[in-house]
Amino acid sequence: MVSDARQSTRLAGLPAAPGVAVAPAWRYVDDAARPHGPSMEPSGDPRTALEESGREAARQLDVLAERLREAGRADEAEILGAQALMATDQTLIGAAVDRVRAGQDLGAAIVAAAAASAETIAAVDDPLLAARAADVRDVGARIARILSGSELDLPSVPSIVVASDLPPSVTAEVPKGRLVGIALEGGSPTAHAAILARGLGIPAVVGVAGLIGALEHELAAGGAPFEVALDGDRGEVVLRPGADVRVELATRVAAALIRRNRAAPLRGRPGATADGEPVALLANIGTPDEADRALASGAEGVGLFRTEFLFMGRHAAPSEEAQVEAYRTVFEVFGSERRVVVRLADIGGDKAIPYLDLPAEANPFLGVRAIRIARRSPELLLTQLRAISRAGALAGVQPHVMAPMIATHEDVALFLALRDEAQASLAAESLPHAPRLVCGIMIEVPSAVFLARELAREVEFFSIGTNDLTQYLFAADRTNPELTRYHDALHPAVLRAIAEIVAAAHASAIPVAVCGELAGDPAGALVLVGLGVDELSADAGSLDDVRFALAGATRSELDELARSGLAAGDAATVRRLAGEVCERALARAAVTEAPG
Ligand code: PEP
Ligand code: MG
Repeated sequence: MVSDARQSTRLAGLPAAPGVAVAPAWRYVDDAARPHGPSMEPSGDPRTALEESGREAARQLDVLAERLREAGRADEAEILGAQALMATDQTLIGAAVDRVRAGQDLGAAIVAAAAASAETIAAVDDPLLAARAADVRDVGARIARILSGSELDLPSVPSIVVASDLPPSVTAEVPKGRLVGIALEGGSPTAHAAILARGLGIPAVVGVAGLIGALEHELAAGGAPFEVALDGDRGEVVLRPGADVRVELATRVAAALIRRNRAAPLRGRPGATADGEPVALLANIGTPDEADRALASGAEGVGLFRTEFLFMGRHAAPSEEAQVEAYRTVFEVFGSERRVVVRLADIGGDKAIPYLDLPAEANPFLGVRAIRIARRSPELLLTQLRAISRAGALAGVQPHVMAPMIATHEDVALFLALRDEAQASLAAESLPHAPRLVCGIMIEVPSAVFLARELAREVEFFSIGTNDLTQYLFAADRTNPELTRYHDALHPAVLRAIAEIVAAAHASAIPVAVCGELAGDPAGALVLVGLGVDELSADAGSLDDVRFALAGATRSELDELARSGLAAGDAATVRRLAGEVCERALARAAVTEAPG
């Protein structure tokens, strides 16, 4: 969290739906989290009261579903329709009645019964079903509201909702036009709220660590109401934005519009420099349902599928079958002509998975993370490798797999041994699987930079994770906002490491990609291509800009830029130099690529 002198509070999260908005904050508190007051006459029959309220909840949900259907939002309507059925479910009502008989208040009983049912659902080995857990909790909260006669506190003006999570039934109740952005502390890009935001065309940022705490702090310090600014392209939330933030956002919106218009004609073309040297532009995705958007952005494939999102927000690891479906979906979207690089789950660091029972660590980023987990629980990655291979066979594609956090030869050996074991077990079971998995590694730990020449002989491609490489080179926790001065991957120290990795890869004739955030920054991308990187993989929303900048830059300009970057003394100098080359490249592309 960064608070500046004008008391804006900036928080980073995951971009979940594009666009920018500034509007008053609407704090939505999940009713399940509220204390529940007395909700019935002590003499009343609990079953009757619960059944009546359940029926009323079902009626409300049906009305909302119908409203959504009429608005053409069939997917959400279906969710609410399913919730209407849950509201009158006798097992749920029965469980709540038992709790009332054990002494609980009606409202608290239905909320607790729904929570228990949600727990069971969340433990099921199916990511889609697991997502329904939140829907059951929401039904419990709605019935509790009806029992206590309270109403949902809806916004009266167009607002940005700030919440831990946002159930679809709540968004459906907000009158049209009153919801202009979504900021969530929880959630993931697959959460309903994110899908809904994309459907409504409003920006959303999810997974914003510390959001609710910061909001409470703002409310306590400055009182309500106050505004929130949201940048769904970058994944940024600003509480109480000052004039400077508003101007910055307005400028970003205008610039993005201009860029989008001028870069659109290039979208169907593969990435290349002005002199025609190809630079493959691929997309980073976190969930299967991002694949369509990535393909539509002109991605030549997926350079990084961050699979750990499939393992998060659950009570047990997804089954092999569920994973096969997830990978197959992405493989099928991209087909056999466009490669998809699946990264083995990068668990640990700031991505904790409760069901793995990993012990608390003093320094999680330096702990049992990613490939290191395979020494403790090899079956986790073994299952994943089997699922990738099976999905490849079903989709008729050649899967590419990469291991994160490789630090030593032994790590590579472990990865390749797991691959062999996965393939051998599938063959022994006569399960259809890909004949071969193309295996690469992420270079993001400094030791791997110094070992890169040897490691390049053991694998088929490198992908540089500039986010972690920067964190580990500077020994600066990437999540600590007090250390942002150490987080610029354009620092010459990082560039020199990249130059060494590229030389090592090319000495063994293997390709080298960059999939860290730097690849999606047009100026950064130019430096990377200047350093000899073959491929860039970035968020789908960045690809237009990167493609356009590349189209206006020549190889000799990029070589020169890389030379000056490597010789510079600090990141600010490289940023300035790269910014100048980028501006020139964009201007040139605008002339040469102008329609007509
Ligand atoms: C990186 O470290 O640059 C990277 C792409 O991986 P992640 O951000 O998922 O750690
Ligand atoms: Mg990384």
